[in-house]
Amino acid sequence: MDIVLTGTGSPIPHPDRAGPSTLVKAGDTHILVDAGRGVVMRLAGAGSAPGFLGAVLITHLHSDHVCALNDVITTHWVTSQGNATLQIYGPVGTAQFVERQMHALEPDIGYRLAHHDVLTVGPQVQVTDLEPGDAFSIGDVEVTTAATAHAPVHPTIGYRLVHDGATAAIVGDTLPCDGVDQLAANADVYVQTVLRKDIIEQIPNPMAQDILDYHSGVVEAAQTASRAGSKRLLLTHMVPAPTAEQYPEWIAKAAEHYDGEVLIGDDLYTVTI
Ligand SMILES: [Zn+2]
Ligand SMILES: [Zn+2]
Repeated sequence: MDIVLTGTGSPIPHPDRAGPSTLVKAGDTHILVDAGRGVVMRLAGAGSAPGFLGAVLITHLHSDHVCALNDVITTHWVTSQGNATLQIYGPVGTAQFVERQMHALEPDIGYRLAHHDVLTVGPQVQVTDLEPGDAFSIGDVEVTTAATAHAPVHPTIGYRLVHDGATAAIVGDTLPCDGVDQLAANADVYVQTVLRKDIIEQIPNPMAQDILDYHSGVVEAAQTASRAGSKRLLLTHMVPAPTAEQYPEWIAKAAEHYDGEVLIGDDLYTVTI
């Protein structure tokens, strides 16, 4: 199984980091977790495309995690010429969010239906709102879910994907909690969105201070990985965005609390498990 960081950014714009998303390639089954800014470009860079996706899994409806979902839907529709259905899973509220996206796309859908004889239907999308604990399969990938902790954002969901003996836990923005511990338990890789709390605490801006209380810092992610027995910790959604020269410092922070392998990288960084 390949885990590709298709977006390592955050709400703060960065020229080289797309918004948060992670692509899982499990044999021929491609699964996208979240759909942040620029995700369709990064899918192309990862040798994938919306039309290849077995499903999109959404962790939560914060804009940085879903702002390019409309691009995934439209590109999937156009490239499949309306002949394929895009499966989307997410916490309760995802179906309504997608329905509203479809309303926003109505002019474009109308133009393309009018212009292309081969297109006879609009985007075919099937959305499943999940409850924590739900389990399902996408191709031959088994997916289990658990609640994560990102209040006041609610509900939020994390995912554990198992394929051919390999296990990946991919969660969105969350504090450490029982749900993340369950998902990351003995996982071959645990992917966590992180902040450097020691840096952000120095920023004299109330909105910067607000983000501290609903994200895992590098230290907390490392503590979770250690407690859960994850074999690797893969950091993403890094705030503030580090330079490559700063990666060793981030890894060292985590390594103070975790004996496993700590991984961090640029967009398209890939871990094979
Ligand atoms: Zn986020
Ligand atoms: Zn969030």
